[in-house]
Amino acid sequence: MDRSLNTVFSQRPVTIFQVMSALADDAGAINLGQGFPDEDGPRTILEKAAAAILEGPNQYSPVSGLPVLREAVARANKRFYELEVDWRTETLVAAGATEGLAACFFGFLQPGDEAIIFAPFYDSYLPVIEAAGARARIVHLKPPKWSINGAALDAAITPATKLIVVNSPHNPSGSVVSDEELNLVADRAIRHDLIVICDEVYEHLVYDGRRHRPLMTLPGMRERTVRLGSAGKTFSLTGWRIGYITGPEHLIAGAMKAHQFIAYTCPPALQLAVAEGLDFPDVYYDDFVRGMQARRDLLRAGLADAGFDVVPCAGTYFMTVDIRSVGYDGDDMAFCREITTKAKVCAVPVSAFYQQGDDHAPRRFARFCFCKKPEVLAEASARLKRYFGG
Ligand code: PMP
Repeated sequence: MDRSLNTVFSQRPVTIFQVMSALADDAGAINLGQGFPDEDGPRTILEKAAAAILEGPNQYSPVSGLPVLREAVARANKRFYELEVDWRTETLVAAGATEGLAACFFGFLQPGDEAIIFAPFYDSYLPVIEAAGARARIVHLKPPKWSINGAALDAAITPATKLIVVNSPHNPSGSVVSDEELNLVADRAIRHDLIVICDEVYEHLVYDGRRHRPLMTLPGMRERTVRLGSAGKTFSLTGWRIGYITGPEHLIAGAMKAHQFIAYTCPPALQLAVAEGLDFPDVYYDDFVRGMQARRDLLRAGLADAGFDVVPCAGTYFMTVDIRSVGYDGDDMAFCREITTKAKVCAVPVSAFYQQGDDHAPRRFARFCFCKKPEVLAEASARLKRYFGG
């Protein structure tokens, strides 16, 4: 009998974030690798959760999530995107977007199905699609704009295609899909009767006066699209593991059937507190995006001053640089190790966001995260400038 553990997981290494964060710790480097803010989200949310832990509820919440949070999710859809959502049948609370994505993949995919994902991609997509018994077809986004190419998408669609995953604002590139790209995906999804899973965890981090536009708002997409948000990103509480999914009843029911066997439920005290956050007045959301944009600008200027060509960043916590611009001719992994151990600033290689061994993965981009205190970003920039003599 074969005693191997499930090779979908066992043959994969630990995530790049674990590898680089451990290296950063050992080297005493500033960690601009893993994307987590170095300041916790709003005090009112923390206090609400603390009070709820002391006073309850502390027992299982309903499988789909506490009604107060699901109602708040529905209200947020209306307020930000004019989407009419029935909280009872069209929302689901998950243990972070990561578990929400897993619930969608397990809930929607069957052996023999194909799922289209755009590379570079958030690293949980591929193993979970494979664990569901499906096959991922990978379509490459083209740097430096990281845009979706219609012909490449068409070439990936087969009779077995069941769904497409679209992540915008996009990790790791910091790009935001254009209206043209949204139309292109919607056109193919409708024409081929596909589900679209929209990973929109950075929905409130779109810069330069632009606003996030969910694919779900396009004609014909409401009934075939689920969109995922994350309290971790929206309220700078990445450790809390609260995410939310919005979609048509049949898809939410499908995801819930998987969620009930993965996470089952999520901590009720945290759900209560997140519900309050979703109803925060506009000033919270405006300050949040303005503050993060200022950090983006600070790091962009610092990296440019150190000699890097910085790829434009329209959203998320992340920006990428072309490592050739500082005369580095090795690959992105070696570069990230070198700057972590020698310059004492950690970044992650963009090639880690591709399938292992993908010959078409670019090897010349590194991703830096800017959701850190301004003084941390300034110090990281100064260290890189010293190291590269910029
Ligand atoms: N999708 C993308 C694109 C992400 O960057 C992340 C977090 N890094 C997630 C999903 C997961 O979010 P959560 O922390 O809510 O699981």
